[in-house]
Amino acid sequence: MISLTKTGLSACQKAYADYLKDKTPAYARFAAKKGKVTITAYESGKVVFQGADAAHEADRWSAYQQKQQSPKAAAVNEAGRAKSADNQGTKKQHSHAKAPADTLPKDFANWSVIGSDEVGAGAYFGPLTTAAVYVPAERIDWVKRLGIADSKNMTDAQIKEVAPQLIQHLAHHVINLGPHKYNQLQAAGTNIVAMKALSHNFVLTAVQEKIAPEQADAMLIDQFVQASTYFRYLKKGKQEQIAQQHVYFATKGEGKHVAVAAASVLARYVELQEMTKLGQAAGLNTALPIGAGKQADQVAATLVQKGYDLEDFAKVHFANTAKVQALVNKG
Ligand code: MG
Repeated sequence: MISLTKTGLSACQKAYADYLKDKTPAYARFAAKKGKVTITAYESGKVVFQGADAAHEADRWSAYQQKQQSPKAAAVNEAGRAKSADNQGTKKQHSHAKAPADTLPKDFANWSVIGSDEVGAGAYFGPLTTAAVYVPAERIDWVKRLGIADSKNMTDAQIKEVAPQLIQHLAHHVINLGPHKYNQLQAAGTNIVAMKALSHNFVLTAVQEKIAPEQADAMLIDQFVQASTYFRYLKKGKQEQIAQQHVYFATKGEGKHVAVAAASVLARYVELQEMTKLGQAAGLNTALPIGAGKQADQVAATLVQKGYDLEDFAKVHFANTAKVQALVNKG
């Protein structure tokens, strides 16, 4: 794989114009087959050469290769150096110079990033929904123009309008831990933080696979626990794949990179859909309410009275369950 400048990528596309393949892989700019070499190029400038003679074909573009170390690569190396210096016990002049683990490199907001976020952890009804979205550098402005920078302040209607566009144009993955499965795991001793950790890792690695061989510059997790705890849960959960390289954590992550904002919007969108489905499954003509307040208790009491099993609709270990039972007994 080589990394070309913008000019190089254009030149490359022209050069292979007569060799284009019928199908372009998702998220690629173009794919071509010349002789025995398959060429796949991405908007980021990354170009992959595969097959016999691939190296020779790639060499043609050496003049256009991004020779200089990009600022972000420099930042990553810088962070790595700082870490190894710490490990060797190098004395620091100023203790405050030691950066916390979740400090993001300068210019991070402009990187190509897979962001992840989850919703539903505090909602009595419905799933724990976790989403990851890849926003390559050249898509950042487009995502910003959708108006999702501050996803927490968006209405359901806005979410429903914007999310389908994200789904159409960006590599993404969503996992729903429905109430039934959630309750099983919870009863078996998997706590909510572990469930979040496993879910985040799952969607992040899924998106990574979808965009391969392109690689994101980094992954950013909307932070819900310390990094060390996060990775401990993944090890304990015996995950097949654990995304570890270039993984960053940040609280209020949606403000640090639009990929997290996009993930948050997508997770909310799927949660809304699930609430509607669950409402239908319960014979209601409305969605189940989001949250863990009195409204949720009232609706849950109605479901119990109608003979439904709350295990299939709600996170039953919540304190709400006792309140619901009291309402039913009063009923
Ligand atoms: Mg979050």
